[in-house]
Amino acid sequence: MQCDLCPHYCRLKVGATGRCQARAATESGLVSLNYGLFTAICVDPIEKKPLYHFHPGTNILSLGSFGCNLNCPFCQNWEIARAKRPAVAELSPDEVVHLAEKSAREAGSIGVAFTYNEPLMSIEYLLATLPKLQAAGQKSVLVTNGMINPEPWRELLPYVDAVNLDIKAFTPNFYREVVGGDLATVLAAAKMLFIAGVHLELTCLLIPGLNDELTEIGQLVDWIAAELSSEVPLHFSRYFPRYRMNNPPTSLQRLKEAVDLGRKQLRYVYAGNAPELGEEYTGRSPF
Ligand code: SF4
Repeated sequence: MQCDLCPHYCRLKVGATGRCQARAATESGLVSLNYGLFTAICVDPIEKKPLYHFHPGTNILSLGSFGCNLNCPFCQNWEIARAKRPAVAELSPDEVVHLAEKSAREAGSIGVAFTYNEPLMSIEYLLATLPKLQAAGQKSVLVTNGMINPEPWRELLPYVDAVNLDIKAFTPNFYREVVGGDLATVLAAAKMLFIAGVHLELTCLLIPGLNDELTEIGQLVDWIAAELSSEVPLHFSRYFPRYRMNNPPTSLQRLKEAVDLGRKQLRYVYAGNAPELGEEYTGRSPF
């Protein structure tokens, strides 16, 4: 059988698991393996998502599961996203709402961020939970690679309040060769979210030698200004060696150059993972 959730269109025999490790074929059809299972539960400052322009100064209950449809060799959360870490909790949609309300009372949380792994791999769970959060007055945030097909996105959009979308590079080749993904799908998702009025912030991790050429960064900035808006916040994030990648960390100079380049066209451009650059470059930094 074929899974149509993302552009991988995995064709699976009974017993097989998709590339995301989160969906499998059974005798009774495709099933979500991570439904209601969580491997990480925290209350974080909203800026840590990073979202700098969505209820700044508040906290948000942050939930991670497992599974991801990309295979980034530099994954910063690989223990959660890729590893078979046992779930620390199984929560029904109603239990997530109750936890969100408790977190609002006790920790000033504004809702729930689905983060750490790729939340869109739990689409059935999101479709069951986000309407309940909305009805309870709780915000729903996704920290995502954006790479699912337009139809499931359209189903989800009415219930999503804010998204931090990772744009991993601005070349189809990087998406295809380095992370196993599809740039066009991600850009289409960014446009769809923006047009739908979802609060959108973008993140780009700059990796030396792979996606940090100023020409490519300039093309990304041009695209955001032309296709979205100069008001959409952009976070350039500093890479450090992690998981299966040993390239040296992003230089502070290149990070600064990227921010300066972005600010020629965009109003809100920040540097993440780089407290050395100071407040001018980091905004209200959680780091
Ligand atoms: S969501 Fe998972 S199983 Fe479905 S097509 Fe994408 S990688 Fe394959």
